[in-house]
Amino acid sequence: MQFNSTYNDLDRRHIIKLLASEGEEKKCLFKEAARVKKEHVGDIVYFRGLIEFSNLCHKNCLYCGIRSGNRKVVRYDLTDEEIIDSARYAFDNRYGSIVLQSGELESNAFTKRIDSLLKKINSLTHGGLRITLSCGEQEEDVYRQWFESGAQRYLLRIETSNPGLYSRLHPNDRKHSFNRRVDCLNNLKKIGYQAGTGVMIGLPFQTTADLADDLLFMQQNDIVMIGMGPYLEHTDTPLYKYRSLLLPREKRFDLTLKMIAVLRIIMKDINIAATTAMQAIDKLGREKAIMVGANVIMPNITPGSYRDDYLLYDGKPCIDENPEDCKTCLEARIAIAGNEIAYGEWGDSAHYSH
Ligand code: SAM
Ligand code: SF4
Repeated sequence: MQFNSTYNDLDRRHIIKLLASEGEEKKCLFKEAARVKKEHVGDIVYFRGLIEFSNLCHKNCLYCGIRSGNRKVVRYDLTDEEIIDSARYAFDNRYGSIVLQSGELESNAFTKRIDSLLKKINSLTHGGLRITLSCGEQEEDVYRQWFESGAQRYLLRIETSNPGLYSRLHPNDRKHSFNRRVDCLNNLKKIGYQAGTGVMIGLPFQTTADLADDLLFMQQNDIVMIGMGPYLEHTDTPLYKYRSLLLPREKRFDLTLKMIAVLRIIMKDINIAATTAMQAIDKLGREKAIMVGANVIMPNITPGSYRDDYLLYDGKPCIDENPEDCKTCLEARIAIAGNEIAYGEWGDSAHYSH
């Protein structure tokens, strides 16, 4: 297959073919993605210290281990001090950036709490950390308030760009609306956030054409950062009953690598994360993602004792380790992948402009 290096617009048919590629064709795809990455964003990896600060959630997504309907989950909520300590750890270790992620809650108390945390972290670090929020769908004025209090980035995955598939993955009610998700993404962009989204790959009922449409959705919406990973089943979720429809885990992993590679080719200068779910399938999963186009890693800096209560899927890696272990093993692995960690840099997407 031929690639034209100035050509951003692979058409849908071409993308579907690339996602199905094997052998020489697949090797050629990965090689081209690595070349584009080197040319446009360099062989550099940015760190985002991930703080999974709470697994309280009022939603019931059918795939997610911490959905509100899962009574087996031990719920936790880090104290403000614990969150701030984790942010301080990221700052002291020159991560440049953190992600505050949680289940989804919509309430005045939650809005105020996040607002106050943002102010405290910014004051503590003299604005030295870029802060990404990943706290689900919120009203536009809430997003605006958090932006004004110092959050610069927001991660809200679309999960799938196919509304029909979205409705099979979520309860059929107003709390789980595809249209609201899209509206939220648009509001985030309008406010001025660096808006991030992403999808799960290898979901039951998902086709290769759906995945091609997901990539085109990201391109058409001019998204500046993407986190996508394989869907991984969780025993205590309604979607688990469809596990016989799933591709083997290695195939889902391989498909995710191809998605990353194609995305790098069609959106050359955005930030693409090598997600934890990739590491759940392959111990070197994130490093392999880096070699085919990803340039962001999110080391988990949640205090170790809480990690096993943020189980989105079966077999989540690194739950026994503390932040220092995670950092050391990552440094070695990134070097093996021929990349360098950009310590102390914010790593804003080159694609982002106000
Ligand atoms: N609650 C927020 C939200 O949904 O946007 C942020 C936290 S949520 C746990 C972060 C992401 O985890 C979701 O967007 C979803 O893509 C991913 N996730 C949840 N369950 C998963 C599963 N079983 N396999 C892979 N990814 C999963
Ligand atoms: Fe809650 Fe997010 Fe999980 Fe959905 S994906 S149940 S919103 S934590």
